[in-house]
Amino acid sequence: MHSQQKFAKSFSIEFFPPKTQLGTENLRNTRITLAELKPAYISVTFGAGGSTQEGTIETVTEIQTSGIPAAPHLSCIASSTEQLREILMLYKANGIRRIVALRGDLPSGTQSLGELRYANELVEFIRQETGDYFKIEVAAYPEVHPQANSASADLSNFKRKVDAGADSAITQYFYNPDAFFRFVDDCEKRQIDIPIIPGIMPITNHKQLARFSDACGAEIPRWIRKRLEDFGDDLESIKSFGVDVIIKLCDTLLSQGAAGIHFYSMNKVQPTQEIWQALKLNERYISKDL
Ligand code: FAD
Repeated sequence: MHSQQKFAKSFSIEFFPPKTQLGTENLRNTRITLAELKPAYISVTFGAGGSTQEGTIETVTEIQTSGIPAAPHLSCIASSTEQLREILMLYKANGIRRIVALRGDLPSGTQSLGELRYANELVEFIRQETGDYFKIEVAAYPEVHPQANSASADLSNFKRKVDAGADSAITQYFYNPDAFFRFVDDCEKRQIDIPIIPGIMPITNHKQLARFSDACGAEIPRWIRKRLEDFGDDLESIKSFGVDVIIKLCDTLLSQGAAGIHFYSMNKVQPTQEIWQALKLNERYISKDL
């Protein structure tokens, strides 16, 4: 059993801010249905440089008002500290208690990097501005961040975020549990002692997943890729295979001590609901908003 076992379990869900009226209505229905799972919180992504700022704020406010704790993502690249301060104050005024603090990726065509270059600087800034008011989540990369000089440099950079005051971490998605447990062991050796929650990306669409994975450096194992190729455009078979793979992955992670699961829902009820219910997360574990 793993050292992460000592932490209370956290089961959470991620949304992205919708761009259209129809998207907003669909997401509202998704949120109402997924609320029945009683997630510890729902997080909402944020486009670097504030490109989705309004959408993130609106989505987060609606979630929080509905009674589910909301966790806005906040990225620092291409933003000024003044902009970041304003957003933090707005969240504080709206009773939001949790932030997912990120560097973000520079949008193409953006000239200015902003004042804070890395996520550890953002964590430090949030602590300076708001003390212990927010629970701060940061990103972790069991398969190594694509821009890192080495696995060990990436781990040292992860530690900077923890030392700056992060309370817990959510990982980039992965399909190889060994990569996760190796990462967690390496963290323990470096005295990093916070919950590291696996981020889980359901498998629903081969081409989209391949594109995402190339961009963020997540590996799709060959045995999964080959089967997805075989299914071609047969979306039903992809979905049923995907649900089966993810249930087994989550079961392995949780039975070996992972401190919860963060579902990248892609704003859809399925397959998050199906996986959550098949794993009996609410019956088997007590989920807490940490
Ligand atoms: P950092 O921790 O700053 O690391 C970025 C790179 O720089 C790494 O290679 C690291 O090793 C290196 N590094 C870090 N600190 C230092 C330092 N002090 N000196 C030198 N090198 C350093 N993106 C969005 O735009 N919006 C989102 O809402 C969003 N949500 C995400 C949620 C999760 C759970 C995850 C895992 C990722 C998310 N991303 C999001 C993507 C993320 O912004 C990118 O992966 C980005 O490239 C890195 O962000 P970070 O916070 O991990 O950066």
